[in-house]
Amino acid sequence: MTTIYDIEALEEIRSRNAVQPHRMKLFRNALFKSSNDWKDALAVLPEEVRADFDEHITFQCLEMAERHDSEIDQASKLIFKTHDGHLIESVVLRPKSGRISICISSQVGCACYCSFCATGKMGFTRNLTVAEILDQITQANRMLKPEGRSIRNVVFMGMGEPLLNTDFVFQSLEMMMDPKLYDLAASRITVSTVGIPNAMEEFTSTYPDVHLALSLHSAVQEVRQRMMPQARVYPLEQIRETLVAASRHGKVMIEYLMLAGVNDRPEDLQALEEYLQGIPVHINIIPFNEYPGSNLRGTPEAERTQFADHLKASGFNVTLRYSLGSDIAAACGQLVQHKQKESRT
Ligand code: SF4
Repeated sequence: MTTIYDIEALEEIRSRNAVQPHRMKLFRNALFKSSNDWKDALAVLPEEVRADFDEHITFQCLEMAERHDSEIDQASKLIFKTHDGHLIESVVLRPKSGRISICISSQVGCACYCSFCATGKMGFTRNLTVAEILDQITQANRMLKPEGRSIRNVVFMGMGEPLLNTDFVFQSLEMMMDPKLYDLAASRITVSTVGIPNAMEEFTSTYPDVHLALSLHSAVQEVRQRMMPQARVYPLEQIRETLVAASRHGKVMIEYLMLAGVNDRPEDLQALEEYLQGIPVHINIIPFNEYPGSNLRGTPEAERTQFADHLKASGFNVTLRYSLGSDIAAACGQLVQHKQKESRT
């Protein structure tokens, strides 16, 4: 399948039709910058070549199966169906700052099996392709166009572990930052990982200006292993060395999801402070979106605030995050898991 994301194939069609480069630029702008639909994008090309483009290029790689808009805030959850029938999800966030963000998926399911994550319970099916990763952004931009908005920030924090799909994730990063395509600044993109040291090193040396977020969630090895089985393969000590090296390229984000009685005790706080001592990081304290089938409970807000205040008093940069879109099942993988169950019954 040749898609609009296959730049070499597009160039081949351009060349055999002798389309002037400036017309191709208008065509790319119509698709990637103005988020026009296919017909409007084709209209910028000479009439006699449109049929060839139309016949040989697939404009849309994912089918938007469902859209859920939050009634309590400005989040939208999008469920996409892949050509082979799998469901993935993206979440569009419209914060008051006006900087529209999208949280995108990088895999169908996930092999990491984190205990708090609905996607982790599905197991791994396959990596998403470059076209499937980018189509989440393109389609979100098309959805936002009537609102006069567009995606300003991209976060790889949806389904899947992006650093276990480095080939396609890295190619998508190149295309997101390409001035001829999406032209997103590196500083507006974040890749989040459970901590795969080799891939983290490759990522930070290749893309020093793209943000790295580490889902740490505990600085106690035994607790972290219970929360994230992947921690057995890459222990905290090894990840700390990688973190120190990564932080030479800039501040690393630390994600800390707070679970009642699991990682919110005084000893968890102390371990976290000791672990991150001397590394330039920004810590995000994240609430847990409870979902059916999980017996985990989130730490209440007052205790999360206290935890964050202690970290701030110790000199750390901390942001207390609030959950957006909790009424539309915004916990990663939750809605897709529900849909899969529905289709089996
Ligand atoms: S939290 Fe991320 S890495 Fe862990 S199972 Fe879920 S999708 Fe995979």
